[in-house]
Amino acid sequence: MKIAIVGAGLTGLSAAIALKKHAKITVFEKGYAGGLVSSYCPHYCIEKFYHHCFRQDEALLYMIKKLGLSSKLVWKVVRVGYAVGGKIYPLNTPFEILRYPHMSFMDKVKLALFTVKSRKRDYTKADNTGVVEGIRNELGDSLLNNFFMPLLKAKFGESYKEVSYAWLLARVSVRSNRKYSGEELGYIRHGFYQLTEKMQEGIEIRNEAAKIERSSGWIVNGEKFDAVVYTAPLPELDGRIRRFAGVQDVKYQSSVCALVGSKETVTEDLYWTNVDNAIFGAIIEHTHFMPFEDYGEHLIYLASYSSPSGWLFNTENDELKKLYLKELGRFGLRENDINWIRIFKARYSGPVYEKGYLSRITPYRTALKGFYIAGMTSKPSYPERSMNGSIKAGMEVAEVVKADMEV
Ligand SMILES: Cc1cc2nc3c(=O)[nH]c(=O)nc-3n(C[C@H](O)[C@H](O)[C@H](O)COP(=O)(O)OP(=O)(O)OC[C@H]3O[C@@H](n4cnc5c(N)ncnc54)[C@H](O)[C@@H]3O)c2cc1C
Repeated sequence: MKIAIVGAGLTGLSAAIALKKHAKITVFEKGYAGGLVSSYCPHYCIEKFYHHCFRQDEALLYMIKKLGLSSKLVWKVVRVGYAVGGKIYPLNTPFEILRYPHMSFMDKVKLALFTVKSRKRDYTKADNTGVVEGIRNELGDSLLNNFFMPLLKAKFGESYKEVSYAWLLARVSVRSNRKYSGEELGYIRHGFYQLTEKMQEGIEIRNEAAKIERSSGWIVNGEKFDAVVYTAPLPELDGRIRRFAGVQDVKYQSSVCALVGSKETVTEDLYWTNVDNAIFGAIIEHTHFMPFEDYGEHLIYLASYSSPSGWLFNTENDELKKLYLKELGRFGLRENDINWIRIFKARYSGPVYEKGYLSRITPYRTALKGFYIAGMTSKPSYPERSMNGSIKAGMEVAEVVKADMEV
C-alpha cells in the first residue's frame, strides 16, 4: 500500500508517523517542513510566528514525550496586558484588573460572570448567531465596543463581523481554565523546530508541490498511490477534487507577523499585550517568556491578521516595515533600539470561524475513495487551530485510513 501525504506541517508529519509502519509513505511539501510552525534561524532558531502550548494539549505533549523532548519543555506563568491609546495596562492580578480605567466596575463583574458561566454552556446553539450580535445581547454595548471589538479585529481582521458567537463561547470556555496567578504556557526551550525535525526522521519528504490527479487509484506528481491524505489548506486543493470530495468551503484568514530583534523591550515584563487601534493587534515579547540569554537580544512579534485579499497581506514587506517601525515609536521603541525586523506572511493561516461553521468542519473520510483530508479545518482544531489540534487530526486521520485498509 502506497500513501501520499500532501503537506509536511504538523498534521502531515503526525499522520506520516502513525502510518509509516502500515504503508509506504511519501510526504509532499511545497514550502517548509513544519508549515506554520517552521522557524527562522540566524544564529539561533525562532518560530516565524509566535508559538506556545497549554497543559491540556494532550496530543502535542504525547508527541513531545514520544520523541524524547519532554526534558526540554518548560512551563511559565506569563503576564499579559492591554494597550489603549498607546498606554500599556498590565491585566493579571485582581488589583491590576480593578485598577484598569477603560472598563466600569459593573462591566468587570459582568465579564467575570460570563467567563465562569461559559464553562458549562452548550455553545453549539449559538453557531448561527453573529459574534457582535451575541455579545451585544448578552453583555451590552460598552463591553462590546471597548473590550471585545478591538480583540475581535486583532484576531480576525476585516472578517470579524462574520464570526459566530459559538466560537467566542467555546474559546472562552477552553481558555478560562487558568490559574489564579495567570496563565501557564509551555515552550520547547530553544524552539519548536526541535520537534518538527524529530518528526521528520525516517520519513520520505519530497520538496515539491503536489499535483493530484484521479485515475483508478491516485496519481501525485506522476506517481501512483493507493490513497492520498491531504493536509494543506483547502483553497489550495484542486477545485474539481474538492467538489467531488464533497468538502464544504471554509473561509481562511492570513497572518502577517513582524519579528523584531531588539536591544530594548516594549513592556517591562509582559509576554502578550493586546493593542487597540494599531496596525498590529498584539505585541508578543518572546524574551519575556523565554530567557534573553538564549538569544542575546530581545525578540518581539507584532501580530496581525488579514483576509488573503486584504491590504495588509498584500502590502510590500518594505512598506510594512516602515509602518511597523513608526507604530513601535508610539510605544517608546526607537529605530536605534532595533537590530533587525523581518516580516513573515502566511496566506492561509487558519479558518475564520464563521456563522454556521460547526456544520462545515471537514470530515477525514471524503466522498472520494482513498482521498482523506485533515488539518486546521478538522474537528480537533475547533474552537482554535493549534499545534495540538493538528497533531490530533493527523493521528485521527491515520486511524481512519488504517481502518479502511483493513476492510
Ligand atoms: C500567527 C500564528 C500563531 C500561532 N500560534 C500558535 C500557538 O501559540 N500555539 C499553537 O498551538 N498553535 C499556534 N498556531 C497554529 C499552528 O501553527 C497550526 O495550527 C499548525 O501548525 C497547523 O499545522 P497543519 O499541518 O495543519 O497546517 P500547515 O502548517 O499549514 O501545513 C500545511 C503544509 O502544506 C504545505 N502545502 C500547501 N500546499 C501544498 C501542495 N500543493 N503540495 C505540497 N505541500 C503543500 C504547506 O507549505 C504547509 O507546510 C499559530 C499559527 C499562526 C499562523
